[in-house]
Amino acid sequence: MIRALRRLRPRSFQARVALAIGVALAVAFVVAQLVFVSFIDARSRSEVEAALREQADSIARQIERNGVENAAASSREAQRYVGDARFVVYVSGLVVHWNRPVSEAQASARAQRGEVEVLLQRPDPAAGLFTDWVFVALIAVGLVGLGALVWALAVGVGARLRASVSSLADSAEAVTAGRFDVRVPVTDDELGRLAQAFNRMTARLESADVRQREFLADVAHELRTPVTAIEGFAQALEDGTAASDEDRRESAEFIRVEAARLRELVRDLQQLTWLDLDPPVAPVPMDLMDAGREAVARLAADARAKGVSLHPPEGSLSALGDPDHVATILSNLISNAIRATPRGGFVHLSPATAPGQSGIAVSDTGTGIPPEHLPYIFDRLYRVQSGRDRPAGGSGLGLSIVRRLATLLGGRVTVVSTPGQGSTFTLWLPARALAPARRARVGSGLD
Ligand code: ADP
Repeated sequence: MIRALRRLRPRSFQARVALAIGVALAVAFVVAQLVFVSFIDARSRSEVEAALREQADSIARQIERNGVENAAASSREAQRYVGDARFVVYVSGLVVHWNRPVSEAQASARAQRGEVEVLLQRPDPAAGLFTDWVFVALIAVGLVGLGALVWALAVGVGARLRASVSSLADSAEAVTAGRFDVRVPVTDDELGRLAQAFNRMTARLESADVRQREFLADVAHELRTPVTAIEGFAQALEDGTAASDEDRRESAEFIRVEAARLRELVRDLQQLTWLDLDPPVAPVPMDLMDAGREAVARLAADARAKGVSLHPPEGSLSALGDPDHVATILSNLISNAIRATPRGGFVHLSPATAPGQSGIAVSDTGTGIPPEHLPYIFDRLYRVQSGRDRPAGGSGLGLSIVRRLATLLGGRVTVVSTPGQGSTFTLWLPARALAPARRARVGSGLD
Protein backbone atom coordinates (compact mmCIF):
# COMPACT_ATOMS: atom_id res chain seq x y z
CA MET A 1 0.00 0.00 0.00
CA ILE A 2 2.75 2.42 1.06
CA ARG A 3 4.77 1.40 -1.97
CA ALA A 4 1.76 2.05 -4.20
CA LEU A 5 1.35 5.50 -2.65
CA ARG A 6 5.05 6.18 -3.10
CA ARG A 7 4.72 5.36 -6.78
CA LEU A 8 2.03 8.03 -7.01
CA ARG A 9 4.32 10.64 -5.50
CA PRO A 10 4.77 13.39 -8.07
CA ARG A 11 8.32 13.26 -9.44
CA SER A 12 8.39 15.90 -12.10
CA PHE A 13 8.44 19.61 -11.41
CA GLN A 14 5.25 20.02 -13.42
CA ALA A 15 3.36 17.41 -11.39
CA ARG A 16 4.43 19.04 -8.12
CA VAL A 17 3.26 22.44 -9.30
CA ALA A 18 -0.08 20.93 -10.38
CA LEU A 19 -0.45 19.32 -6.96
CA ALA A 20 0.32 22.57 -5.12
CA ILE A 21 -2.22 24.43 -7.24
CA GLY A 22 -4.82 21.74 -6.54
CA VAL A 23 -4.28 21.90 -2.79
CA ALA A 24 -4.45 25.72 -2.80
CA LEU A 25 -7.70 25.58 -4.80
CA ALA A 26 -9.21 23.07 -2.37
CA VAL A 27 -8.33 25.20 0.68
CA ALA A 28 -9.77 28.31 -0.98
CA PHE A 29 -12.94 26.35 -1.82
CA VAL A 30 -13.44 25.18 1.80
CA VAL A 31 -12.84 28.63 3.29
CA ALA A 32 -15.30 30.21 0.84
CA GLN A 33 -17.89 27.57 1.69
CA LEU A 34 -17.54 28.18 5.45
CA VAL A 35 -17.80 31.95 5.11
CA PHE A 36 -20.82 31.69 2.82
CA VAL A 37 -22.69 29.22 4.99
CA SER A 38 -22.19 31.16 8.24
CA PHE A 39 -23.26 34.38 6.53
CA ILE A 40 -26.49 32.82 5.22
CA ASP A 41 -27.10 31.24 8.63
CA ALA A 42 -26.81 34.52 10.50
CA ARG A 43 -29.15 36.31 8.10
CA SER A 44 -31.90 33.72 8.17
CA ARG A 45 -31.75 33.53 11.99
CA SER A 46 -32.20 37.26 12.41
CA GLU A 47 -35.19 37.22 10.03
CA VAL A 48 -36.86 34.33 11.89
CA GLU A 49 -36.27 36.07 15.23
CA ALA A 50 -37.92 39.28 14.01
CA ALA A 51 -41.01 37.31 12.95
CA LEU A 52 -41.07 35.42 16.30
CA ARG A 53 -40.83 38.68 18.22
CA GLU A 54 -43.92 40.06 16.45
CA GLN A 55 -45.86 36.85 17.06
CA ALA A 56 -44.88 36.73 20.76
CA ASP A 57 -45.86 40.35 21.15
CA SER A 58 -49.33 39.84 19.66
CA ILE A 59 -49.89 36.73 21.86
CA ALA A 60 -48.84 38.70 24.98
CA ARG A 61 -51.20 41.50 24.02
CA GLN A 62 -54.08 39.05 23.55
CA ILE A 63 -53.44 37.33 26.95
CA GLU A 64 -53.27 40.70 28.69
CA ARG A 65 -56.46 41.79 26.99
CA ASN A 66 -58.29 38.64 28.24
CA GLY A 67 -57.07 39.38 31.83
CA VAL A 68 -54.12 37.91 33.71
CA GLU A 69 -56.46 35.73 35.78
CA ASN A 70 -57.39 33.92 32.54
CA ALA A 71 -53.76 33.75 31.38
CA ALA A 72 -53.52 29.94 31.42
CA ALA A 73 -56.73 29.51 29.37
CA SER A 74 -55.70 32.25 26.94
CA SER A 75 -52.29 30.58 26.57
CA ARG A 76 -53.84 27.21 25.72
CA GLU A 77 -55.97 29.04 23.15
CA ALA A 78 -52.87 30.75 21.65
CA GLN A 79 -50.98 27.45 21.59
CA ARG A 80 -52.94 26.55 18.43
CA TYR A 81 -51.23 29.35 16.53
CA VAL A 82 -47.63 28.65 17.41
CA GLY A 83 -47.50 25.15 15.91
CA ASP A 84 -44.39 23.19 16.87
CA ALA A 85 -42.55 26.23 18.34
CA ARG A 86 -41.63 26.13 21.99
CA PHE A 87 -44.10 28.37 23.83
CA VAL A 88 -43.70 29.49 27.47
CA VAL A 89 -45.95 32.08 29.17
CA TYR A 90 -44.95 33.83 32.41
CA VAL A 91 -47.24 35.99 34.54
CA SER A 92 -45.30 38.02 37.09
CA GLY A 93 -42.31 35.75 36.47
CA LEU A 94 -44.24 32.53 37.10
CA VAL A 95 -44.77 29.95 34.36
CA VAL A 96 -48.51 29.61 33.66
CA HIS A 97 -48.18 27.66 30.39
CA TRP A 98 -45.47 25.78 28.55
CA ASN A 99 -45.08 23.05 25.96
CA ARG A 100 -42.39 20.43 25.46
CA PRO A 101 -39.74 21.42 22.90
CA VAL A 102 -39.67 19.17 19.81
CA SER A 103 -36.04 19.73 18.82
CA GLU A 104 -33.24 22.13 19.25
CA ALA A 105 -34.13 25.79 18.91
CA GLN A 106 -32.78 27.73 15.99
CA ALA A 107 -34.14 31.17 16.97
CA SER A 108 -35.86 32.63 20.00
CA ALA A 109 -37.76 35.82 20.94
CA ARG A 110 -39.40 37.29 23.99
CA ALA A 111 -42.23 39.83 24.32
CA GLN A 112 -43.63 41.49 27.43
CA ARG A 113 -46.92 43.25 28.04
CA GLY A 114 -47.50 44.31 31.65
CA GLU A 115 -47.10 41.24 33.87
CA VAL A 116 -47.38 38.88 30.89
CA GLU A 117 -44.18 37.64 29.27
CA VAL A 118 -44.18 35.28 26.23
CA LEU A 119 -41.14 33.22 25.14
CA LEU A 120 -41.23 31.68 21.65
CA GLN A 121 -38.52 29.40 20.30
CA ARG A 122 -38.50 28.22 16.69
CA PRO A 123 -37.03 24.72 16.21
CA ASP A 124 -34.34 24.26 13.50
CA PRO A 125 -36.10 22.44 10.64
CA ALA A 126 -32.75 21.02 9.45
CA ALA A 127 -31.63 19.99 12.91
CA GLY A 128 -30.81 16.30 13.02
CA LEU A 129 -30.98 16.14 9.25
CA PHE A 130 -28.17 18.45 8.22
CA THR A 131 -26.01 18.57 11.29
CA ASP A 132 -22.51 19.98 11.36
CA TRP A 133 -20.81 16.63 10.93
CA VAL A 134 -22.74 15.91 7.70
CA PHE A 135 -21.57 19.23 6.38
CA VAL A 136 -17.97 18.48 7.37
CA ALA A 137 -18.21 15.02 5.83
CA LEU A 138 -19.50 16.48 2.57
CA ILE A 139 -16.65 19.00 2.50
CA ALA A 140 -14.16 16.22 3.25
CA VAL A 141 -15.53 14.03 0.44
CA GLY A 142 -15.39 17.00 -1.95
CA LEU A 143 -11.83 17.69 -0.89
CA VAL A 144 -10.75 14.11 -1.36
CA GLY A 145 -12.43 14.03 -4.77
CA LEU A 146 -10.75 17.25 -5.85
CA GLY A 147 -7.38 16.03 -4.55
CA ALA A 148 -7.79 12.73 -6.39
CA LEU A 149 -8.61 14.56 -9.61
CA VAL A 150 -5.55 16.81 -9.37
CA TRP A 151 -3.42 13.82 -8.39
CA ALA A 152 -4.64 11.80 -11.36
CA LEU A 153 -3.92 14.72 -13.67
CA ALA A 154 -0.44 15.19 -12.23
CA VAL A 155 0.32 11.48 -12.42
CA GLY A 156 -0.99 11.36 -16.01
CA VAL A 157 1.19 14.29 -17.08
CA GLY A 158 4.19 12.78 -15.27
CA ALA A 159 3.64 9.37 -16.89
CA ARG A 160 3.44 10.96 -20.34
CA LEU A 161 6.62 12.96 -19.79
CA ARG A 162 8.40 9.89 -18.43
CA ALA A 163 7.35 7.85 -21.48
CA SER A 164 8.66 10.55 -23.86
CA VAL A 165 11.95 10.91 -21.98
CA SER A 166 12.52 7.17 -21.83
CA SER A 167 11.80 6.85 -25.58
CA LEU A 168 14.37 9.62 -26.20
CA ALA A 169 16.89 7.91 -23.91
CA ASP A 170 16.42 4.56 -25.72
CA SER A 171 16.88 6.25 -29.08
CA ALA A 172 20.00 8.07 -27.87
CA GLU A 173 21.40 4.70 -26.76
CA ALA A 174 20.67 3.31 -30.23
CA VAL A 175 22.49 6.26 -31.86
CA THR A 176 25.45 5.64 -29.55
CA ALA A 177 25.47 2.06 -30.79
CA GLY A 178 25.71 3.35 -34.39
CA ARG A 179 22.05 3.07 -35.45
CA PHE A 180 21.28 6.39 -37.15
CA ASP A 181 17.91 5.34 -38.60
CA VAL A 182 16.07 5.72 -35.26
CA ARG A 183 13.39 8.41 -34.94
CA VAL A 184 11.28 9.33 -31.90
CA PRO A 185 7.56 10.20 -31.97
CA VAL A 186 7.01 13.97 -31.91
CA THR A 187 4.52 14.95 -29.18
CA ASP A 188 2.80 18.34 -28.84
CA ASP A 189 4.26 19.14 -25.41
CA GLU A 190 7.57 20.73 -24.32
CA LEU A 191 9.43 17.56 -25.29
CA GLY A 192 8.07 17.81 -28.84
CA ARG A 193 10.74 20.34 -29.86
CA LEU A 194 13.45 18.21 -28.31
CA ALA A 195 12.13 15.20 -30.24
CA GLN A 196 12.13 17.21 -33.47
CA ALA A 197 15.72 18.36 -32.89
CA PHE A 198 16.72 14.78 -32.07
CA ASN A 199 15.13 13.50 -35.30
CA ARG A 200 16.88 16.21 -37.33
CA MET A 201 20.18 15.23 -35.72
CA THR A 202 19.76 11.50 -36.47
CA ALA A 203 18.67 12.31 -40.06
CA ARG A 204 21.85 14.36 -40.56
CA LEU A 205 24.00 11.69 -38.94
CA GLU A 206 22.37 9.09 -41.16
CA SER A 207 23.00 11.01 -44.37
CA ALA A 208 26.59 11.82 -43.28
CA ASP A 209 27.09 8.13 -42.55
CA VAL A 210 25.72 7.15 -45.97
CA ARG A 211 27.91 9.78 -47.68
CA GLN A 212 30.99 8.56 -45.81
CA ARG A 213 30.33 4.95 -46.83
CA GLU A 214 29.77 5.97 -50.45
CA PHE A 215 32.92 8.08 -50.40
CA LEU A 216 34.98 5.20 -49.00
CA ALA A 217 33.57 2.91 -51.70
CA ASP A 218 34.44 5.53 -54.37
CA VAL A 219 37.97 5.93 -53.00
CA ALA A 220 38.47 2.16 -53.06
CA HIS A 221 37.30 2.19 -56.66
CA GLU A 222 39.66 5.08 -57.51
CA LEU A 223 42.60 3.23 -56.01
CA ARG A 224 41.81 -0.03 -57.77
CA THR A 225 42.29 1.34 -61.32
CA PRO A 226 45.90 2.63 -61.01
CA VAL A 227 46.93 -0.28 -58.78
CA THR A 228 45.62 -2.79 -61.36
CA ALA A 229 47.45 -0.90 -64.14
CA ILE A 230 50.73 -0.84 -62.18
CA GLU A 231 50.38 -4.56 -61.45
CA GLY A 232 49.78 -5.31 -65.13
CA PHE A 233 52.77 -3.37 -66.40
CA ALA A 234 55.05 -4.70 -63.64
CA GLN A 235 53.96 -8.22 -64.59
CA ALA A 236 54.74 -7.49 -68.26
CA LEU A 237 58.21 -6.31 -67.27
CA GLU A 238 58.76 -9.34 -65.05
CA ASP A 239 57.59 -12.12 -67.34
CA GLY A 240 59.13 -10.60 -70.44
CA THR A 241 55.82 -9.77 -72.21
CA ALA A 242 57.31 -6.31 -72.65
CA ALA A 243 60.14 -7.69 -74.72
CA SER A 244 61.52 -4.76 -76.68
CA ASP A 245 63.27 -1.73 -75.21
CA GLU A 246 60.37 0.34 -76.49
CA ASP A 247 57.78 -1.83 -74.65
CA ARG A 248 59.80 -1.78 -71.47
CA ARG A 249 60.16 1.99 -71.59
CA GLU A 250 56.43 2.32 -72.24
CA SER A 251 55.60 0.04 -69.31
CA ALA A 252 57.89 1.97 -66.98
CA GLU A 253 56.33 5.22 -68.19
CA PHE A 254 52.79 3.90 -67.48
CA ILE A 255 53.86 2.78 -64.01
CA ARG A 256 55.32 6.23 -63.33
CA VAL A 257 52.15 8.03 -64.52
CA GLU A 258 49.82 5.78 -62.51
CA ALA A 259 52.02 6.11 -59.41
CA ALA A 260 51.88 9.90 -59.85
CA ARG A 261 48.06 9.73 -60.01
CA LEU A 262 48.05 7.65 -56.84
CA ARG A 263 50.32 10.15 -55.09
CA GLU A 264 48.02 12.98 -56.16
CA LEU A 265 44.94 11.13 -54.90
CA VAL A 266 46.57 10.37 -51.55
CA ARG A 267 47.69 14.00 -51.21
CA ASP A 268 44.18 15.33 -51.96
CA LEU A 269 42.58 12.81 -49.58
CA GLN A 270 44.94 13.93 -46.83
CA GLN A 271 44.09 17.54 -47.48
CA LEU A 272 40.32 16.87 -47.45
CA THR A 273 40.58 14.90 -44.22
CA TRP A 274 42.46 17.80 -42.69
CA LEU A 275 39.88 20.30 -43.97
CA ASP A 276 37.06 18.17 -42.51
CA LEU A 277 38.50 18.94 -39.07
CA ASP A 278 37.68 22.64 -39.66
CA PRO A 279 41.27 23.81 -39.05
CA PRO A 280 41.60 27.33 -37.68
CA VAL A 281 42.56 30.02 -40.21
CA ALA A 282 43.67 33.58 -39.62
CA PRO A 283 42.99 35.53 -42.84
CA VAL A 284 45.36 38.43 -43.50
CA PRO A 285 45.19 41.27 -46.03
CA MET A 286 46.70 40.07 -49.30
CA ASP A 287 46.80 41.05 -52.95
CA LEU A 288 44.69 38.60 -54.96
CA MET A 289 46.33 39.63 -58.26
CA ASP A 290 49.82 38.99 -56.85
CA ALA A 291 48.61 35.51 -55.83
CA GLY A 292 47.24 35.05 -59.40
CA ARG A 293 50.58 36.05 -60.98
CA GLU A 294 52.48 33.64 -58.73
CA ALA A 295 50.10 30.79 -59.60
CA VAL A 296 50.49 31.54 -63.33
CA ALA A 297 54.29 31.46 -62.94
CA ARG A 298 54.09 28.06 -61.21
CA LEU A 299 51.92 26.52 -63.95
CA ALA A 300 53.42 28.26 -66.99
CA ALA A 301 55.42 25.14 -67.94
CA ASP A 302 52.30 22.91 -67.85
CA ALA A 303 50.41 25.39 -70.06
CA ARG A 304 53.32 25.55 -72.53
CA ALA A 305 53.54 21.75 -72.68
CA LYS A 306 49.81 21.62 -73.47
CA GLY A 307 50.06 24.43 -76.07
CA VAL A 308 47.70 26.71 -74.09
CA SER A 309 48.54 30.39 -73.60
CA LEU A 310 48.19 31.37 -69.96
CA HIS A 311 47.78 35.07 -69.09
CA PRO A 312 48.40 36.53 -65.62
CA PRO A 313 46.07 39.20 -64.16
CA GLU A 314 47.01 42.88 -64.12
CA GLY A 315 46.85 45.45 -61.31
CA SER A 316 46.10 44.60 -57.71
CA LEU A 317 43.05 43.83 -55.61
CA SER A 318 43.10 43.45 -51.87
CA ALA A 319 41.21 40.77 -49.99
CA LEU A 320 41.32 38.98 -46.65
CA GLY A 321 42.72 35.50 -47.13
CA ASP A 322 45.36 32.96 -46.29
CA PRO A 323 48.10 33.13 -49.01
CA ASP A 324 48.81 29.37 -48.87
CA HIS A 325 45.13 28.43 -49.15
CA VAL A 326 44.57 30.95 -51.96
CA ALA A 327 47.61 29.50 -53.79
CA THR A 328 46.12 25.98 -53.54
CA ILE A 329 42.73 27.20 -54.80
CA LEU A 330 44.24 29.05 -57.79
CA SER A 331 46.56 26.15 -58.69
CA ASN A 332 43.54 23.81 -58.80
CA LEU A 333 41.42 26.19 -60.88
CA ILE A 334 44.26 26.95 -63.36
CA SER A 335 45.25 23.24 -63.69
CA ASN A 336 41.60 22.35 -64.44
CA ALA A 337 41.38 25.17 -66.98
CA ILE A 338 44.60 24.08 -68.76
CA ARG A 339 43.40 20.46 -68.78
CA ALA A 340 40.02 21.43 -70.26
CA THR A 341 41.45 23.74 -72.93
CA PRO A 342 42.56 22.30 -76.29
CA ARG A 343 45.89 23.21 -77.87
CA GLY A 344 45.88 26.81 -79.12
CA GLY A 345 43.33 27.92 -76.52
CA PHE A 346 43.61 30.57 -73.80
CA VAL A 347 43.44 30.73 -70.04
CA HIS A 348 43.48 34.15 -68.42
CA LEU A 349 43.09 35.52 -64.92
CA SER A 350 41.33 38.80 -64.09
CA PRO A 351 39.99 40.75 -61.08
CA ALA A 352 36.30 40.79 -60.14
CA THR A 353 34.43 42.81 -57.54
CA ALA A 354 31.07 42.71 -55.80
CA PRO A 355 29.83 44.63 -52.73
CA GLY A 356 32.08 43.68 -49.83
CA GLN A 357 33.90 41.04 -51.87
CA SER A 358 37.03 40.80 -53.96
CA GLY A 359 37.38 38.13 -56.60
CA ILE A 360 39.79 36.61 -59.03
CA ALA A 361 38.40 34.91 -62.14
CA VAL A 362 40.05 32.06 -64.03
CA SER A 363 38.55 31.95 -67.55
CA ASP A 364 39.31 29.42 -70.26
CA THR A 365 38.32 28.77 -73.86
CA GLY A 366 37.99 25.06 -73.14
CA THR A 367 35.33 22.40 -73.43
CA GLY A 368 32.91 24.04 -70.98
CA ILE A 369 30.63 22.08 -68.65
CA PRO A 370 27.14 20.88 -69.63
CA PRO A 371 24.52 22.56 -67.39
CA GLU A 372 23.25 19.23 -66.01
CA HIS A 373 26.71 18.58 -64.51
CA LEU A 374 27.20 22.03 -62.99
CA PRO A 375 25.42 21.36 -59.66
CA TYR A 376 27.69 18.38 -58.96
CA ILE A 377 31.18 19.39 -60.05
CA PHE A 378 32.11 20.45 -56.48
CA ASP A 379 31.14 17.01 -55.11
CA ARG A 380 33.91 14.65 -54.09
CA LEU A 381 35.16 12.38 -56.86
CA TYR A 382 32.61 13.78 -59.33
CA ARG A 383 33.84 13.96 -62.91
CA VAL A 384 32.05 15.25 -65.95
CA GLN A 385 33.80 12.77 -68.23
CA SER A 386 34.29 9.31 -66.91
CA GLY A 387 36.77 6.50 -67.56
CA ARG A 388 38.68 6.49 -70.76
CA ASP A 389 37.11 9.68 -72.20
CA ARG A 390 38.64 11.64 -69.38
CA PRO A 391 41.87 13.57 -70.02
CA ALA A 392 44.74 12.28 -67.89
CA GLY A 393 45.32 13.61 -64.40
CA GLY A 394 43.00 14.97 -61.74
CA SER A 395 42.03 13.11 -58.61
CA GLY A 396 38.39 14.21 -58.83
CA LEU A 397 38.83 15.95 -55.48
CA GLY A 398 40.25 19.27 -56.71
CA LEU A 399 37.04 21.31 -56.77
CA SER A 400 35.78 19.94 -53.45
CA ILE A 401 39.07 21.03 -51.87
CA VAL A 402 38.67 24.43 -53.57
CA ARG A 403 35.17 24.88 -52.18
CA ARG A 404 36.13 23.73 -48.65
CA LEU A 405 39.12 26.13 -48.59
CA ALA A 406 37.03 29.05 -49.89
CA THR A 407 34.35 28.42 -47.23
CA LEU A 408 37.03 28.19 -44.58
CA LEU A 409 38.25 31.66 -45.60
CA GLY A 410 34.72 33.08 -45.43
CA GLY A 411 34.44 33.16 -49.23
CA ARG A 412 32.94 31.09 -52.07
CA VAL A 413 33.59 29.93 -55.63
CA THR A 414 31.16 30.58 -58.49
CA VAL A 415 31.15 29.14 -61.97
CA VAL A 416 29.73 30.16 -65.32
CA SER A 417 30.20 27.79 -68.22
CA THR A 418 29.08 27.41 -71.82
CA PRO A 419 29.69 24.02 -73.43
CA GLY A 420 32.01 24.35 -76.41
CA GLN A 421 33.05 27.90 -75.48
CA GLY A 422 34.68 27.76 -72.07
CA SER A 423 34.26 28.31 -68.34
CA THR A 424 34.97 30.97 -65.75
CA PHE A 425 35.57 29.98 -62.14
CA THR A 426 35.72 32.93 -59.71
CA LEU A 427 37.11 32.85 -56.19
CA TRP A 428 35.39 35.42 -53.95
CA LEU A 429 36.89 36.53 -50.65
CA PRO A 430 35.92 39.21 -48.11
CA ALA A 431 37.15 42.55 -49.47
CA ARG A 432 39.50 44.82 -47.63
CA ALA A 433 39.89 48.52 -48.44
CA LEU A 434 43.16 49.29 -50.23
CA ALA A 435 45.44 52.19 -49.49
CA PRO A 436 44.57 54.84 -52.20
CA ALA A 437 47.92 54.48 -53.97
CA ARG A 438 47.38 50.76 -54.46
CA ARG A 439 43.70 50.78 -55.46
CA ALA A 440 43.08 48.15 -58.09
CA ARG A 441 41.70 48.58 -61.54
CA VAL A 442 38.65 46.42 -61.08
CA GLY A 443 36.70 44.43 -63.63
CA SER A 444 33.03 43.47 -63.61
CA GLY A 445 31.62 40.59 -61.57
CA LEU A 446 31.81 37.43 -63.61
CA ASP A 447 29.34 35.18 -61.84
P1 ADP B 1 39.52 16.65 -61.41
O1 ADP B 1 40.61 16.28 -60.52
O2 ADP B 1 38.96 15.49 -62.19
O3 ADP B 1 39.81 17.85 -62.23
P2 ADP B 1 37.83 18.42 -60.00
O4 ADP B 1 37.09 18.24 -58.74
O5 ADP B 1 38.90 19.44 -59.99
O6 ADP B 1 38.35 17.00 -60.42
O7 ADP B 1 36.80 18.78 -61.12
C1 ADP B 1 35.63 18.02 -61.27
C2 ADP B 1 35.22 17.94 -62.71
O8 ADP B 1 34.79 19.23 -63.16
C3 ADP B 1 36.36 17.60 -63.64
O9 ADP B 1 36.47 16.22 -63.78
C4 ADP B 1 35.97 18.25 -64.93
O10 ADP B 1 35.14 17.36 -65.65
C5 ADP B 1 35.12 19.42 -64.52
N1 ADP B 1 35.87 20.69 -64.62
C6 ADP B 1 36.55 21.35 -63.68
N2 ADP B 1 37.09 22.50 -64.15
C7 ADP B 1 36.73 22.58 -65.45
C8 ADP B 1 36.98 23.54 -66.49
N3 ADP B 1 37.69 24.66 -66.31
N4 ADP B 1 36.45 23.28 -67.72
C9 ADP B 1 35.69 22.18 -67.93
N5 ADP B 1 35.42 21.23 -66.99
C10 ADP B 1 35.95 21.43 -65.77
